[in-house]
Amino acid sequence: MPADELVGLLRAGDRRALARAVTLVESTRSDHRQEAERLVEALLPHTGGATRLGISGPPGAGKSTFIERFGLDGLARGRKIAVLALDPAAKRGGGAILGDKTRMTELSRAPGAFIRPSPADAAMGGVARRTRETILLCEATGFDTVIVETVGAGQSETSVAEMTDMFLLILPPAAGDELQGLKRGIIELADLVLINKADGELLDHANRAVADYTNALRLMRPRIAGWETPIRAVSALNGTGIDEVWDDVAHFRSVLEANGEWHRRRAEQARGALLIEIGDGLLAQFRAAPAVAARFAEIERQVKKGARTPADGARLLLQIFLDQ
Ligand code: GDP
Repeated sequence: MPADELVGLLRAGDRRALARAVTLVESTRSDHRQEAERLVEALLPHTGGATRLGISGPPGAGKSTFIERFGLDGLARGRKIAVLALDPAAKRGGGAILGDKTRMTELSRAPGAFIRPSPADAAMGGVARRTRETILLCEATGFDTVIVETVGAGQSETSVAEMTDMFLLILPPAAGDELQGLKRGIIELADLVLINKADGELLDHANRAVADYTNALRLMRPRIAGWETPIRAVSALNGTGIDEVWDDVAHFRSVLEANGEWHRRRAEQARGALLIEIGDGLLAQFRAAPAVAARFAEIERQVKKGARTPADGARLLLQIFLDQ
């Protein structure tokens, strides 16, 4: 399909065209990449309007249950919701990704919503770029809330926090020290912490966890002037507290817009992405250079054996690259 036709369909809010555009952005073929870049470039004036939400939390915390409920609630409020689910377990090959685990079924059927699972097991740099570009595609298609969901798996949270406006952490109703593998740094990234499953027998646990995290966060310096990270008990299952989350999102945006932080964050993120693109681009050229390839294996072997330091090996290869 010609690029301007695709642009027209996206601008008209066509979700199938959006799905096709995302596939283009995800492609690693170099002709697709060029097409994708032209497309994103053409759409750029129509981007930036959405509230970009990052959502993370350990597996089983209730992220998809929450997003389904929160999303349906948002639709009822007149929002248009796109969900990009970065799934490390997802396999390439299209529609069947979430099929086995019936996630967000109601939301995925709603006309005002768009849900797109993406494999996140490739090199994080690549994932970050196509997610950034997919966010822009969603905005140009008219989605005013873009949710990027990631499974709590180390590096991905930082990466998602760096491409969204507000980072929500969803935790199960357990005390901080019971949560294995959840790094303190991740909590520090959060603009809003939700203790999920505050219902039935788990209600007391959830309320205790809220008190726990509130104490812990009180000791940390607020990351953003004028915003103290709220810790809220919610139940994604029965919908308690979900309305308040929408209010938090609106409040967060108005506070940050008023003090300039919203714009500053976006600008800083764009600068960071520029540096990452430069790094990725240089690395790709470096790897593709025949002069480098001719010497790489040999120098790598010397470094592995300890016959050459990594620093010296890198210097030599970079010199070969620059001299070619
Ligand atoms: P994810 O792995 O973080 O996406 O978690 P899921 O949304 O798949 O939920 C994991 C399990 O927790 C499922 O069995 C859900 O039904 C359950 N769950 C999710 N939210 C709640 C909740 O608010 N209350 C209760 N009691 N269970 C929940």
